[in-house]
Amino acid sequence: MQDYSEKLQEVTNEQLGRHLVVSERVEAGETLLDEQPLMVAPHWECGQLKCAQCMQESYIICRKCQVYPLCMDCSDHDAFECDFFASGAGSRISKDLLVKHYSICALLKLLLLLEDPARRDQCQPLVNRPITLEDYRDKDGMWQEHEEQVVRPIISSGLVEALPEQHLTSDILHAHCIRIDSNAFEVTARDGDMLKGVYVCGASLPHHCVPNTVVSLDEQFNMKLYAAVPLETGTVVHTSYTNPLMGTSQRQHQLRLTRHMDCACSRCLDPTELNTHMSSMKCRDCSDGYAVCELAGSGDWRCMSATCGAVMPAGDVHELLGEVGSALVNAKGELEAYESLLAQHKQLFHPNHFLLLDIKQNIASILRAATLMNSLNDPCKKLMQRRVELCADLLPVCRAVVPGISKLYAIALFEYLVAFVELTELQFADADVSKKEYVALLMRAREVAKEALELLQFEPENSAEGFLTERIGMELERIESDLMKYGKL
Ligand SMILES: [Zn+2]
Ligand SMILES: [Zn+2]
Ligand SMILES: [Zn+2]
Ligand SMILES: [Zn+2]
Repeated sequence: MQDYSEKLQEVTNEQLGRHLVVSERVEAGETLLDEQPLMVAPHWECGQLKCAQCMQESYIICRKCQVYPLCMDCSDHDAFECDFFASGAGSRISKDLLVKHYSICALLKLLLLLEDPARRDQCQPLVNRPITLEDYRDKDGMWQEHEEQVVRPIISSGLVEALPEQHLTSDILHAHCIRIDSNAFEVTARDGDMLKGVYVCGASLPHHCVPNTVVSLDEQFNMKLYAAVPLETGTVVHTSYTNPLMGTSQRQHQLRLTRHMDCACSRCLDPTELNTHMSSMKCRDCSDGYAVCELAGSGDWRCMSATCGAVMPAGDVHELLGEVGSALVNAKGELEAYESLLAQHKQLFHPNHFLLLDIKQNIASILRAATLMNSLNDPCKKLMQRRVELCADLLPVCRAVVPGISKLYAIALFEYLVAFVELTELQFADADVSKKEYVALLMRAREVAKEALELLQFEPENSAEGFLTERIGMELERIESDLMKYGKL
């Protein structure tokens, strides 16, 4: 199931539980862990039936068990699951179990793994991790969602009686749901849909908002963990369970919700967020000061300028964040709505503020789609220029929040590269730039492409990042050939 680097050691302590520590220096890019998923399953709310074998859309049902969906390409699925419903203890259960209640899919998978003598042991690290149900019970929508979509359908299906040795109760089923949620990584199916993958070792890695490793997943959902930066002896191996482009308050909220943890990592304790100022406000009292949150004290925002020091009450800041947050949701993909939000709030936040970055990313992706659609009739250079600027704004932040080998930065470089090359080519075709200028711009694009390729070099070929590598390689070839053509003169 899993394969560790010899340069790692398993250590247990009270603060982090079971975790991995580097026992001999590791270079950036070196593989630390290879692991097959314990299970890959759709999200609870997924309505589209997925093939039990390859997890792509499915429209037919396995002929043998008549319970599990399959796709046109797959003729069978896990033998234990199939036999359980075909001739085993589950044969008396209604055949339309999954068609009617597809949301039980992930939990059903875990229950049958626990029933299978050959695989029961692999699940133990997951199911042995203690869960305090009272921390979750009736707290928020999640408990209710599990109750209605998963626990009740399982109880009323007769599965509890068909799996008597597991002594399943409503509480045990809830605990399993929480274990699946809090140990799952987002994985992408071949059809582009998001699924959750549960990795026993991967999920036991402690969280840090500035991870020192990269997680990559291939098409078979195998996980490879490699070092993002050189790791000295004694370093704890970390991963991140949040989006690095979120601000501290957002990340902490998410970690509390999904993992029931309070993060106290170096980024969370740094009010400037590694000098990115992703949560800083523009001071209202002086012309050029930025206010940061006084994390250790009142929680208010205080201007960093030595001559000012004005205070913005935390309540005011949170109210504003809430307002902009809901306006962002209400913008629903409307370019003008995002532009007016940006114009309205530019003066209130630091330019790198996570909310401004979020608005800018939304605008950039609308512009990308618009360029694609208009590519044949007069694309508007002004909009293309805007897209290049927005992509460029994101680069230094992406670079700062994930140091070392970073997929986030590589993807941001790629987005920038495509926007930049499209604009440059058009400018040259319209004779807005001279041949000499064009060559200089292409040389810049070449550097961007090379930097992105270097960051992706440790990704497996058969992965989304592997395909991205190919795409950037093609872009680089085109740049090189134009440089050959025009660069000589
Ligand atoms: Zn299939
Ligand atoms: Zn079957
Ligand atoms: Zn943190
Ligand atoms: Zn000030």
